Amino acid sequence: MSNNDRIKLWVPRMSTVGAECLSAALRSIGFDARVSPEADDHTLLCAAKYTTGEECLPQRVVLGNFLKVIQDPDFDPAKNGFFMPTSSGPCRFGQYAPFQKKVLNEIGLDASMVFSPTSSNGYEGIARNVNKFKRTAWRAVIVSDVLRKATYMVRPYEANAGETDQVQQKHLKSMCSILADASLSTQKQISFLVGHLESFRDSLNQISLKEPLGSRSLLGIVGEIYLRLNSYSNQNLVRRVEALGGECWMADVAEWVWYTNVEQQRKLKDAGQNYSLDMLGAKIKEMIQHSDEKKLIGPFAEYFQHRKELSIREILKRSASYLPQRKALGEMTLNAGKAIAFYEAGCDGVIDISPFTCMNGIVTETYYHQISQDHQDIPIRIFYFDGVPFDLDSDLEIFMELVKSYRKKQYARE
Ligand code: SF4
Repeated sequence: MSNNDRIKLWVPRMSTVGAECLSAALRSIGFDARVSPEADDHTLLCAAKYTTGEECLPQRVVLGNFLKVIQDPDFDPAKNGFFMPTSSGPCRFGQYAPFQKKVLNEIGLDASMVFSPTSSNGYEGIARNVNKFKRTAWRAVIVSDVLRKATYMVRPYEANAGETDQVQQKHLKSMCSILADASLSTQKQISFLVGHLESFRDSLNQISLKEPLGSRSLLGIVGEIYLRLNSYSNQNLVRRVEALGGECWMADVAEWVWYTNVEQQRKLKDAGQNYSLDMLGAKIKEMIQHSDEKKLIGPFAEYFQHRKELSIREILKRSASYLPQRKALGEMTLNAGKAIAFYEAGCDGVIDISPFTCMNGIVTETYYHQISQDHQDIPIRIFYFDGVPFDLDSDLEIFMELVKSYRKKQYARE
């Protein structure tokens, strides 16, 4: 599939803001990218025809949503495709795309409808000007992280239900138009994005509040990246915490990109290429990403002054005595380190959102008790999801009691 094919390219809806921004970035290189439908119970029913129930929940949700697109009476196989990046490594994520191809074959469709750029060649096949696309995609990640983080900071305190979400949706739309505009130079693109982020911040400041910002118990949210971001899959955990009087601060998506940078440099070093052109390229890429991130977060410097993100290297230092980077790869080491970072930043509790049977969650859970003990007994709890709804509210209510009493103790110590 080339980027000149004006077919509809369906992008998995990990989070709505993230998927909208990534789709916009893909439109900037010629794809007619659309966000997959919202997940619902029908999604899992569609997937159930081709799965055993033992696959990762994100895999079933992504597949089910693609199948919903196929079920549309107007669906034309010649004019649709599915975006499913892949990667190598121990995590089952690498199996998503091959599995989707197998299912398409089973239902008599062409497996090439799955468009699957791979991390092993730096996603080079995605477009002619891959570097410009990668930069736009990185900016899309930061913009969606900022939109989500600021929304979670304001929404629990809004006086009129739904106002913060409306503001977010309005600004998401304008930021997507900028990301999709191929005619903009990289310089103009970032200056327009910064301008819109300023106006998003100003709109948030206009929202009437029923309680002062930051006055609720603060919960750090870690876990498997798809599940923590996809509200259907995690039974709307963030909104439930808000309804129970809390505020959430979620580990952002950029964290994963920073982590892959660090891993790339570590592997080059291990291969004796510390002073190589590849290492130089990796360092320059990281510098450019930092510079873009700094500019895009700029309008929120004051907003985020008590929500500062630790650098990835600092997070990995925090996890070193529990699940060290070299031995426990990926989300295990990240979630252990981030839980400690949340403790240091003043969170009153940490929730890990993980798919049932995901090895990352199971391994990290064995360390959470020790991490909690070593950090003033901060409450940490893992919630597993397998697509079958359970009484999450009762479990959350109990956890919120622990969080509130931890918060009281912390105040007493000050
Ligand atoms: S992190 Fe866990 S749930 Fe997610 S793809 Fe990997 S194995 Fe599956």
